[in-house]
Amino acid sequence: MERARALLKKYYGYTGFRAGQEKIIDNILNGGDTLGIMPTGGGKSICYQIPALVLPGIALVISPLISLMKDQVDALVNQGIPAIFINSTLAYRETVTRMQDLAQGSYKLLYIAPERLESESFRELIYRLNITLVAVDEAHCVSQWGHDFRPSYLAIDGLINGFATRPAVAAFTATATEAVRRDVIKQLGLLNPLTYIGGFDRANLYLQVIKGEDKKHFLLQYLSQNEGRSGIIYAATRKDVDSLYDILQSKGFSVGKYHAGLSDRERNQAQDDFIHDNIQVIIATNAFGMGIDKSNVRYVIHHNMPKNMEAYYQEAGRAGRDGESGECILLYSPQDVQVQKRLIELNETTPERREVDYHKLQAMIDYCHTSHCLRRYILTYFGDIDVADTCSNCFNCSGDNELVDITIQAQKILSCIWRMREQYGLTMVADVLKGSQNKKVQQLGFNRLSTYGLLSNYAIRDIKDMINMLIAEGYINMTQGEYPVLKLRESAYPVLKGRASVYQKVRRKKQIRVDDKLFQMLRRLRKEIAVQEKLPPYMIFSDKTLQEMSRRCPTDEQALLAVSGVGEFKLQRYGEEFLGEIQRYLAEGTV
Ligand code: ADP
Repeated sequence: MERARALLKKYYGYTGFRAGQEKIIDNILNGGDTLGIMPTGGGKSICYQIPALVLPGIALVISPLISLMKDQVDALVNQGIPAIFINSTLAYRETVTRMQDLAQGSYKLLYIAPERLESESFRELIYRLNITLVAVDEAHCVSQWGHDFRPSYLAIDGLINGFATRPAVAAFTATATEAVRRDVIKQLGLLNPLTYIGGFDRANLYLQVIKGEDKKHFLLQYLSQNEGRSGIIYAATRKDVDSLYDILQSKGFSVGKYHAGLSDRERNQAQDDFIHDNIQVIIATNAFGMGIDKSNVRYVIHHNMPKNMEAYYQEAGRAGRDGESGECILLYSPQDVQVQKRLIELNETTPERREVDYHKLQAMIDYCHTSHCLRRYILTYFGDIDVADTCSNCFNCSGDNELVDITIQAQKILSCIWRMREQYGLTMVADVLKGSQNKKVQQLGFNRLSTYGLLSNYAIRDIKDMINMLIAEGYINMTQGEYPVLKLRESAYPVLKGRASVYQKVRRKKQIRVDDKLFQMLRRLRKEIAVQEKLPPYMIFSDKTLQEMSRRCPTDEQALLAVSGVGEFKLQRYGEEFLGEIQRYLAEGTV
């Protein structure tokens, strides 16, 4: 372990292991099998990369996404770690050369995609190497109960059993459900593994659910307040992605898009632009992100509610992987529930599985409605015990919200729905309350209703917001089907009779954050170097490292080395330039 710690400082610039990493690495170094379950950003990679450096021979890393393999390997090489990948993008000759280099001991880590294992000749080549550790990334892909089952993962077990000397096997995933855990152990044939389940808390992530607000309006505002910060916006469908992209791009924001309907070339380009900070924001379906290591994502906004907490936390968890603050905002609307239910119905599956899906969806809906601590809700869902009742970093616990009494407005809305005989949808009801001159409103005689124009001093958007909020809070039911109509629920009557009040939790407007000057200078320098070296900026140094540099202002190599994330290799490579920039900043300050 002592050697492991020395290598951690040397190659990664970190001073200590996180609690789980220490246990897992110790177990791997002692030859044991391991199942490591940690949230996204929990630090899984170091758990097999450090043993790969300590053990003799080569660590074989099985990782699902070919498109990201190059990035993962580039990052290691840029830290001074000899790593290489082999996948179907390489010409045969190149594969042979790499195999020869591997056989000669030129590399410590070999990354491959599981599909390669289906070829017997490739397995034979692997058996000729001195593999001392097999690490399986995103191991839930081996389980039918996981959310991304990949049949080729089933070949891993066969590979492991074919080695003359069985290497240690370590599997990693962020999915903690009992069924998946058991399945991974069984399908990979793990022998009496150490199962480590890491705490799922990501204290640096701010959690928030926003209900009943115009989503586009919110996004425009948010993006303009967060210029210069990297973010992901997840939307439910390709159509949503396209339309959000068009809107945000036309407003001049630096955005890209990613979904399965685009060509491989377009997708790769968008991903590349995002990773290299050429664009600030990527708008994507859930097809985007698996294995993305970009550590300086500052926010993840869900334009629609996802199908379950597993998907949500995995996607949201892509914010703040460097440990600096990140925001995870979910924009909820009741239509999202209808969409997810329709998807479950369309999914050809067994009745049991459908039941599970509905159950998971309900837990997701409950997350959107709870007025208690959001962090506690998530951690309890994932089985963490001993969770505090409140935190200081979610919308429900923080002072970011205030309660506003909207009883009178609610009475007007509920009464209007009742007078329209509970037969119309959200837009029509809002039009009537606004007092719209729209032809249909006139034809149906709604301009003669006593509720016509009762909320004429509000924008249509605000009226719709309030109706959405009343749906979310259970006063109004929105029926299913293509043309959903609004109906009153039990709890609406006490409000109508003046016996109950309605409050809306509204956001206090947040201050625009301005990053400090040195941080911006260091970021610009990082981008210049990244362009020269054709590397994503976060691989040069993470945001966290730059933040610490701008706080500490190191002026010599020793002080720079003390900054977390600065290892010996990077000190040699970039130290001079960064120290120079800090000097310039200090000199400017004294002028
Ligand atoms: P995961 O694969 O679990 O999503 P990563 O391995 O990408 O997470 O690690 C997330 C971030 O945390 C990375 O930026 C990584 O460098 C950092 N990290 C990992 N272990 C440590 C450590 N012991 N000390 C400081 N930072 C760490």
